[in-house]
Amino acid sequence: MPEDVIEKIKKNLLPYISFCDLVGCGDPLISESLFKILDYCSRLNVKTATTTNGLMLNETNAKRLVKSNLSVLHISIDAVKDRTYREIRVGSNFDRVIENIKCLNHYKKQYKKENPVLSLEFVAMKKNIEELPEFIHLAKSLDAQSVNVMYLAVSDEKLREESLYYYQESSNENFKKAKNLARALGIELTLPGLFNDNNGNGSKRKEQSKRFECHYPWTFTFICQNGDVIPCCQMKAMGNLMKKSFREIWNGKGYRELREGVNSSEPPETCSRCAHPSLQDVNNIKTHILI
Ligand code: SF4
Repeated sequence: MPEDVIEKIKKNLLPYISFCDLVGCGDPLISESLFKILDYCSRLNVKTATTTNGLMLNETNAKRLVKSNLSVLHISIDAVKDRTYREIRVGSNFDRVIENIKCLNHYKKQYKKENPVLSLEFVAMKKNIEELPEFIHLAKSLDAQSVNVMYLAVSDEKLREESLYYYQESSNENFKKAKNLARALGIELTLPGLFNDNNGNGSKRKEQSKRFECHYPWTFTFICQNGDVIPCCQMKAMGNLMKKSFREIWNGKGYRELREGVNSSEPPETCSRCAHPSLQDVNNIKTHILI
């Protein structure tokens, strides 16, 4: 992120926010800006999170993250078996990532820090679903506080066969096993809804989705690397920090119209086909197959 965009964020946003999630299209650990913004957030007591594939969580970065006061570190792993891991995360190295996490834990102990709290991420698909219960054990062994599971959303025809929409029984079965294990091991587990679950999450979410109110336009904002300000990852920019002040954009026509329409009976087109997890109906193929 260019220095002048960071400066705008530092001056116009950081003093007023309570949480900053440092994510992007790529691994944040590759960017020096990550540490710069973490430092500013720490001075202002702003809680922070970031997500990594763990490959660049080397000794230097592990030490820097622990010292940075980062609140939560999400690590995308998706598998327990080396072979599955390599098939999903092509070019990565399972053993190295696990060693890197242990290294981070070592520095947490050395500096007597609770943070960053670890959360392991698991994108569930045909290839890895049977490894999910074992993944809970892995999380425990790595001192992770939580495991976050989401369904693979297919955007490439080649991956269609991997969607759990076509393997609902196995998906439900392994979700249930993982839930019981997580409860027994004290891991916070976030699961999407089960398929055709009349008493569980699936139908509850469907019911909830009818009443879901989006609060993003009032409570969140995304700042892109070039300074573009967008209300959520699905919408277009409402302005750019290098051309207008944040206040002008936040109170501008685009934001005002969105706030008026988002929860109305006639929402903007993007909102009417929103892919936000709270709006997802797990029994609808469109939730899983985006092509
Ligand atoms: S697209 Fe979805 S998350 Fe984004 S503002 Fe609209 S309803 Fe909210």
